[in-house]
Formats: sequence, structure tokens, C-alpha cells
Amino acid sequence: MNTINKQVQSLASVETQSVSILGSTGSIGQSTLEVLSLHPQQFHLFALSANTRADLLLSQCEKWQPDYAVLRDSEQAEWLEQSLIEKGLTTQLLHGSEGLDFIASHEQVDIVMASIVGSAGLRSTLAAVNAGKKVLLANKESLVMAGALFMQAVEKSGAVLLPIDSEHNAIFQCMPTPRLNGASESSTELEVLGASLKAGGIRKILLTGSGGPFRCLPMDAFSTITPDQACAHPNWSMGRKISVDSATMMNKGLELIEACWLFNCSPSDIEIVVHPQSVIHSMVEYLDGSVLAQMGHPDMRTPIAHALAWPARVESGVESLNWTQMNGLTFEAPDNQRFPALDMARQAAEAGGSVPIALNAANEIAVEAFLNEVIPFTAIIEVVQQCLEKIPFEEPMTLDAIEAIDFQARKVAKHCCQAFQKVSS
Ligand code: NAD
Ligand code: MG
Repeated sequence: MNTINKQVQSLASVETQSVSILGSTGSIGQSTLEVLSLHPQQFHLFALSANTRADLLLSQCEKWQPDYAVLRDSEQAEWLEQSLIEKGLTTQLLHGSEGLDFIASHEQVDIVMASIVGSAGLRSTLAAVNAGKKVLLANKESLVMAGALFMQAVEKSGAVLLPIDSEHNAIFQCMPTPRLNGASESSTELEVLGASLKAGGIRKILLTGSGGPFRCLPMDAFSTITPDQACAHPNWSMGRKISVDSATMMNKGLELIEACWLFNCSPSDIEIVVHPQSVIHSMVEYLDGSVLAQMGHPDMRTPIAHALAWPARVESGVESLNWTQMNGLTFEAPDNQRFPALDMARQAAEAGGSVPIALNAANEIAVEAFLNEVIPFTAIIEVVQQCLEKIPFEEPMTLDAIEAIDFQARKVAKHCCQAFQKVSS
């Protein structure tokens, strides 16, 4: 047996693993619980967390009886604490960002699912990375905001970073067999991410996207798009923020930046390909012309199960593809005029520094304003553009500096949203 196989086998035979889920009440959090429920012997649920959905967090605690639960919303904390006692549950309730850091970095935790949405997930995800955990990264925004710092922390702590975003998980699966770091018999550290594409014999990464619900909608109808229409994704069922990002294709832009950090490459190494059926989740093209693709139903339980069990494989609950019923797989170039977010994100990836931070912050504010029916769909990208023009370029070196830029960009974006509101009322 060669060294790689021995390493993979030793990692695969680890006993019961303790899991914390940051954002257990969300779409990814709930899918993670579904996968975990198939493997009660293999995984122990250490902690759950929620922002405001205290009632759902309570029912998850009843079912799973984790050691800890974290609720961010302080107004409902007393009610939840009382309800846990009344139900005779021993789950200990923690609060706010300190509680999240605690469950992300606790010594008993092996795996952390980072599935809080938006910049709110940055600190706790980094806490898990700094504690050297196996980190399952759904929260792409933390890499968009703090990619350099984040990847340095991974390297320093020896954390194992596994992508959950379906495209990045697919790319990871199509990459060359995990490269051994140091390649010594005793080393258990696997260097999968971070090696250069060239060293792996890779020509380029093909990042696929469905094109979202408005791929074919006449552009003059964009101004009347409602939040519910934007959230009705043709293939994926997701939280509302990422659903709107998919509708503007900002999601693909954020994913381009995410891929640059994860796979240590530049934007020019990545081609975005629209593939409306979402059967291929992304591809890797090698120097010899071979293209490897990862396929499956558009169901997040597949990447979640892949990362939970990696380097082994376990059941996810997802059915087989029905090859003979498929109506063909099609591919097209993205329409950059219809979806200006793609060029904007590519330029932000190339500029680096404060630009992706401002892009992400402004987008979060604009999407929220759209979901609250304060601005129209077409204003989302305009707000981001206006904000990018107003935030001066900087190279932040610390987390505090990153958060200061994020704060400033949010303020500017809120002003831009208000200006839109005034014009339209
Ligand atoms: P969601 O809105 O369904 O869930 C978000 C979770 O984060 C909830 O549990 C919520 O309680 C928690 N949360 C929100 N704000 C918080 C705050 N301020 N403090 C603490 N917790 C907070 O979102 P989702 O669709 O599950 O997405 C989660 C992340 O995964 C996002 O970064 C998204 O881009 C990424 N992702 C999601 C999918 C998907 O299919 N849903 C696919 C790929 C990547
Ligand atoms: Mg994705």
C-alpha cells in the first residue's frame, strides 16, 4: 500500500467525531443534521446555534440533546433557557459571539460546520480555524472578506479546511489525489488545498453556475422582480440571502473569489460556465486536455456528507442520478451585461485589499434592503457599484482593520439604499 493510501486509511478510521454546527437553523445547518441522523455511531452532536429562531433551536435541542446551544438573540434567551429546563434537557445555553467562539474552539470538538450566513460568520469560523479543527466551510463570505488572513490561520494552526459550497467541493473532489505535506510515513497532515494549480498539472478550473431564475427573463422585466421570485431558485433550495445572490449572479462572483483563496490561484485561472441543469457542480481541466467533473443531484447533503466523512465516503440520503431520464446537459457563456456582478467580483478579486470586503458588505446591505422591499432588484448591483466607488483602497493586515472597512462600507451602502428609497417614493 502506498503512503497516501495509508494516510487516508488512518484518517478514515477515526472513532466517533464531535460536531458543532454554527447556524444549525439555516438551510445548510438543517441539511447537516439530516446527514448526521444517518450516522449516529459515527458523529456526536456537541453544539447547535441560531440567530433568532429560538423555537426551532429548542426543537433541535429536544431531538439531538447536544451539550451546548448558542442563541444570539438576547431577548429570547430567557424563554429558551426556561423551556430547556421545563423539558428536562441538560443542554447548556450560551450567548452571543462568545458562545459561538466557545463551541467553535472547544477541545472536545473535532468538526465545525461553519454555516452562518454573511459576515456574521467570520469570527466564529476563524475561531474554529485557529483552534485547528476540521472546518467545513459553507460561509463563503469569510473567505471573500478575509481570505489572506484566513488561509494563513489555516496554515499556522494545521486546521483541515473542506469546502461545502457545492462548486468548491466539486473542484476539491476533481483535484489530484490529496498531496502529502512532507510525504513522511508518520505525517498525518494532508495538503489538499493551497498547492499551486501548475504543480498539480492543472490548466484551469471551470466554475459552473445555473444562471439563476432570471437567466432568460427579458431585462426590461428585472425592475419589477419581487423577493419571492428572486428566492425561487430553479434547482437549489437555499436561504434567502444566497438565493438573491444567485439571482443577481453575485453568488458566482463571490464563489470566484472564494475559489482563488481555496485553490491558490488567480481569477484568470477560473472560467465561469453557465450550466442550467446543475448536474455538473464544477470541473477541473488538466494540462493534457482531460476534464474531470463532479456530478450529482443539486442537493447540499452530498457535499456535506463528503466533507463530514472525508477522506472516507458515507451515505448522504441523496438518490442516484437517473441517466436515461436526463434531457441533456447544456453549457453557455455567462451574460455579463445581464449580470454585471460577475465582472465586478472578478475586478474585486484582482484588486484585493479592501475591494472584496466592500463588495461583500455592500451586497449584504443591498440584498437585505431588497428582501425588505426598500429597493428594487435592479438597485442591488447599483448600490454595490456606488459603494465600491466611495470606499478608498487599503490593504488591511488585521481582523480589526477588515471589520473597520466592512463597517464603513455598510454605512455607505445604507446611505445609497436610502437615496434609492427617496427617489422611488
Ligand atoms: P440561512 O439563512 O438558511 O441560515 C443562516 C444561519 O445563520 C441560520 O442558522 C441563522 O440563525 C444563522 N445566523 C444568521 N445571522 C446570524 C448572526 N448574526 N449571528 C449568528 N448566527 C446567525 O443560510 P444558508 O442558505 O444555510 O447559508 C449559510 C451559508 O452557507 C452562507 O454563507 C451561504 O452562502 C453558504 N451556502 C449555502 C448554500 C445553500 O444551499 N443554502 C450553498 C452553498 C453555500
Ligand atoms: Mg455554490
